[in-house]
Amino acid sequence: MATIYHDEDARLEAIAGQTIAVIGYGNQGRSQALNLRDSGLSVIVGNIRDYALEQAEADGMEVHPIAEACRRAEIAMLLIPDEVMPEVFERDVAPQLRSGAALSFASGYNIAFGLIQPDASLDVVLIAPRMIGIGVRERYVSGEGFPSFVGVHRDATGNAQQRMLGLARGVGSTRAGCIEMSMHDEASLDLFTEQAFGPAFGRVLSSAVELLVEAGYPPEAVLLELYLSGEFAYSFEKMREVGGLEQMKYHSHTSQYGSATRSRRFMHLSDPIKQKMGEVLEEIRSGTFADEWSRHQDQAAQLFAKIREAREHSDMNRWEESARRAFRIGNAAR
Ligand code: NDP
Repeated sequence: MATIYHDEDARLEAIAGQTIAVIGYGNQGRSQALNLRDSGLSVIVGNIRDYALEQAEADGMEVHPIAEACRRAEIAMLLIPDEVMPEVFERDVAPQLRSGAALSFASGYNIAFGLIQPDASLDVVLIAPRMIGIGVRERYVSGEGFPSFVGVHRDATGNAQQRMLGLARGVGSTRAGCIEMSMHDEASLDLFTEQAFGPAFGRVLSSAVELLVEAGYPPEAVLLELYLSGEFAYSFEKMREVGGLEQMKYHSHTSQYGSATRSRRFMHLSDPIKQKMGEVLEEIRSGTFADEWSRHQDQAAQLFAKIREAREHSDMNRWEESARRAFRIGNAAR
């Protein structure tokens, strides 16, 4: 049975008076820093000189270069991109942290795959929001909170668990609930969603688009039907709120009958999909993917540019743009 923490399990007093350095004032950093400050905690920001640093100053944060912020901190929250983190850690973070400080990660990746190895005198904790940065702030302000995967990787001081829970409460996550997990499990689940669930789902979607367009339906209508109208996303939202079974009542009897009777025809696809997903999961868990990604970092910008160019010239992108304009969706509504 999973261990889940809520507000009543977490005390802000466990970290009251400890200087928390939020390193990186980007997607997660800005939202988490504002939430921690509004929770009455003592927050400073460490950032490189860029637009984010100007934003931190405009938000009234005390801002320092990363090394200086770490030197002043009892708790350092590393909220910079995962791929640059090992280098920044070695150069600016590790030499500055005092014995007994806590190091907090929003992703287990670098610890799980051995790319960062903090000193044994440090508490090392995980607070990994299941929420994008904007949502972290919006849901703190609304009072809803957001779920996170949390854990203690190393308890050097005997207080790591209390510090982790204090931080999780400070950012607003224990309001919704935090589930305990190792760094390795958190990173593996996250990567699995990105590398197996997402691509498999994407392949189902593009197969449906190809089939329907080849059958003569206007591409704009096909995209609208499948996802651009937001109807499908709405059903997902209802699944989240009331459950898959209960949300069925929002669909017509024809829909329920057709879906139930035809779903059997796709059953045999389950085994090959699970097999492919299993291969991806194994690469993730064994560290093969992390090794590969570390070796390919210097080619990443080139690869992303290539992918972007191919997508920009794809039929799907053209159809999407046309449908979004026609139906005034998102940015195209302005
Ligand atoms: P961002 O991409 O928003 O980057 C955060 C900040 O780090 C930015 O100000 C960025 O500056 C700065 N930065 C970039 N490169 C360097 C560098 N070499 N040295 C110092 N600072 C640098 O990060 P995220 O908030 O997206 O991610 C932070 C952490 O949170 C990661 O561990 C991620 O896995 C985790 N996470 C992220 C989620 C999300 O919603 N994005 C969700 C859950 C967890 P600049 O913009 O100028 O490059």
